[in-house]
Amino acid sequence: MNISFYPGPSTVYKEVPNYVQEAYDKGILSINHRSESFAQILRKTISLLKDKLLIPDDYTIMFTSSATECWEIIAQSLLRKESFHIYNGEFGKKWFEYTKKIRPDTRRKEFGIDQNIDVSDLQIPFSSEFICITQNETSNGTEVNLETLKEIQKNYPDKLLAIDATSSIAGSFLDFKLADIWLGSVQKCFGLPAGLGILICSPKGIQKALEINECNHYNSLPFVYSNIQKFQTHYTPNVLGIFLLSKVMESVPNIKEVDQRLLLRNNRISTLLENMKGLEFLCNNPSVRSKTVLTIKGEPRLIFKLKEEAKDQGISLGNGYGSFKDSTFRIANFPAIPDEHFDLLEKFFVGQPRDL
Ligand SMILES: *Cc1c(COP(=O)(O)O)cnc(C)c1O
Repeated sequence: MNISFYPGPSTVYKEVPNYVQEAYDKGILSINHRSESFAQILRKTISLLKDKLLIPDDYTIMFTSSATECWEIIAQSLLRKESFHIYNGEFGKKWFEYTKKIRPDTRRKEFGIDQNIDVSDLQIPFSSEFICITQNETSNGTEVNLETLKEIQKNYPDKLLAIDATSSIAGSFLDFKLADIWLGSVQKCFGLPAGLGILICSPKGIQKALEINECNHYNSLPFVYSNIQKFQTHYTPNVLGIFLLSKVMESVPNIKEVDQRLLLRNNRISTLLENMKGLEFLCNNPSVRSKTVLTIKGEPRLIFKLKEEAKDQGISLGNGYGSFKDSTFRIANFPAIPDEHFDLLEKFFVGQPRDL
């Protein structure tokens, strides 16, 4: 037995092997991506995503190879000059750094792990075209809540908002109307193997891309957009990945239900931690704590010991990330992980001495 709580690539739905077999049996693995059969798969996948995740009908869903590619597409096709990045962790920082290579005038503001973004104190310059936010920071288990996004949108009506929701989309309820761009990839809350990214764009975002009309790259947004209008893609895509995504989206409940289920498991882990000395959430402020990537800190020696003992019982706890590598471990609270795995995790922790 090996149970993994690693937050990406993460545990895939146990039905995935059956879906792969089905794709093979139906000839989907060798399908022509300019064919009507592929267009049908694409149409269905997009419609299921909109349905289950509550994505507005007038938003465009496009497919890429990864979330990282989406970062690059935004920098090259949606910015004339610069964006403004607000972050408190490694993924937000990486996004800023990638963007800065393409648009050197890009700026940033960092905030603390326990902090809500202080919207009144942002002082975003007039010249920033996009505000870029990592909604769920996978490296430290924090989130920017929807109220804060709403406030930013309200205070900056002339700017566009781009949101990296890679480790929350399909796990947490998101109000897509609050931003113009949402990006993610499938190896986190979608419970699928890596190799497919998702870029979601509001009509205003599409309009801006068409105005700029940057067409110098294979993945220039106007080109990606004109293809998806015909239910095609700009290169031979990850057809299997898209098919698997349609199967998963078909089988999962509505996002509000998924959100509630993850919340219950989140509460279970919170209660457990309250009863254990030496362990606590890295983020002290529940209003900005991630619901999908639970990041728990302790003495490095204790963290090491727990990870080893868990491993002996067939449970992989996710390593800490970056500067928190030794002082934290992470638990992916992703929908594909069965509740029974959380039962076993709970049993493991209850079996540890209370005074660690
Ligand atoms: C995992 C992750 C990424 C990178 O995703 P790729 O699909 O590997 O490019 C980006 N942002 C966040 C917040 C992530 O969790």
